[in-house]
Amino acid sequence: MPRTYSGIRESRPHTYNDLGGESVRIAEDFQGERLCGADRTFSQGLQCQQINSIAAVLSLEESAFIIHSPQGCSGCVSMGADGYRVGQAHRGVKLIKSPRVIVTNLDQNDIIMGGEAKLREAVGLAVKRYSPKIIFILTSCASGIIGDDVDAIAADLQPGLDAILTPIHCDGFKSKICASGFDAAFIAIRKYLLPDEPGPREDGLVNLFAPTSISYKDQLEIERMLGLLGARVNYIPFYSSLEKIRAIPSAQASTSICKVFADEFMKELDESYGIPFAHTVMPIGVRNTDKWFLGIAELLGKGELAREYVESEHARVLPQLEGIRKRLSGKRVFICGGTGRSFAAAALIDDFGMELVGLETPTYDFDAQIDIEYLNGIHTNYVVDVANMQPFEQVNLVNSLKPDLFIGVPSWSARLGVPTTHVLDPKRATMGYDGILYLGNKIADQLENPGFNRKLAPYARLPYKKTWYESDPFKFIKNT
Ligand code: SF4
Repeated sequence: MPRTYSGIRESRPHTYNDLGGESVRIAEDFQGERLCGADRTFSQGLQCQQINSIAAVLSLEESAFIIHSPQGCSGCVSMGADGYRVGQAHRGVKLIKSPRVIVTNLDQNDIIMGGEAKLREAVGLAVKRYSPKIIFILTSCASGIIGDDVDAIAADLQPGLDAILTPIHCDGFKSKICASGFDAAFIAIRKYLLPDEPGPREDGLVNLFAPTSISYKDQLEIERMLGLLGARVNYIPFYSSLEKIRAIPSAQASTSICKVFADEFMKELDESYGIPFAHTVMPIGVRNTDKWFLGIAELLGKGELAREYVESEHARVLPQLEGIRKRLSGKRVFICGGTGRSFAAAALIDDFGMELVGLETPTYDFDAQIDIEYLNGIHTNYVVDVANMQPFEQVNLVNSLKPDLFIGVPSWSARLGVPTTHVLDPKRATMGYDGILYLGNKIADQLENPGFNRKLAPYARLPYKKTWYESDPFKFIKNT
């Protein structure tokens, strides 16, 4: 991130997170700079950016994590810890570890008197218990509001410590876009863990930035594909180490598996160390896998080699899609997901002849506009809901659009009786060309077996009144 970037996604020009309407109109309004800042006058729980910050670094080797907050803020860590343990099992780790997390447990007294003493104590405990190489200190709303100077405390404690104290400023109230938490983590990595001067450049070394949701199968497939280009992959920060992080500035190029993960960080690496980057799409589905692979290949001067590979994979995989298309063609789909994966899924369903009727995604910006313009060329007449969570809008839309299938977190739409599935599978290969076949068959199997949600719906009703389902789903979004 250029040094002036605050880490708050809303601060970037033309970024919107409260928006809804017909896709063509949104794209035209964005193009004509007619979109205004807006806010929801009623809102249901947002995902806090702190969980994205901790998820980004939780699997780093020999690290400890201090969450400087009341204990409630650390609640979501259990989800990240579970993913970390499963990820180790997939990687063949026999002695599976839990992440080393300490919560300072700020209470009423600390809110009045300050939490510095507890933070100092927590650093001492982390060193004594875990002897880590890095201690990440994650801030919270509470520590931000009371003004604990975490950077100054870290600077004061650092001399004499082997561990590098690395504050991550991820106070939840600073941003309504949870991806800001990734930016906060990368700002900290840049500031505390990377050198100002790069070491010697290593030809063929490629930084591959991967969010936590990538399965080990997908990691292996993406590394294999980059290997075809002669690249050696520095896979970070997921299941990585201080040594790998320190190798970042030596890379020949960077790319990311997700559009909103490390996009600002890759700009910073380009600016600080002259490392070019390919910022394209998540490699799910034919179009996105092509685009992602060709993007990094061109950067490495291997475009021709990559085009030959893409052609051979099309010859192998596309005929196999015919059987899947017979099962899925014409089915109407509503998609909800993170920005990178939801746009990838919307392109993927076109491989199967399916039709997009609704797309819920957390942010709309220049990158989203590129994808929506592409999607508007293949899907007609679908609704876009730009929302971080907001289940009340989702169920209103799903109830009125009546899709054949919902792709995304199923908690709410399943209770409408709609068949649900997802394209985020932390156990199997969803990316690259074989991933397309896996996802196609999985979606078809789910559509052909809708019994669970149909039987669930009468017994797990949603809390909304009939009048809400008859209302404009975007009635609470007001221009500011
Ligand atoms: S940091 Fe703020 S928004 Fe995040 S969990 Fe804690 S109180 Fe909630």
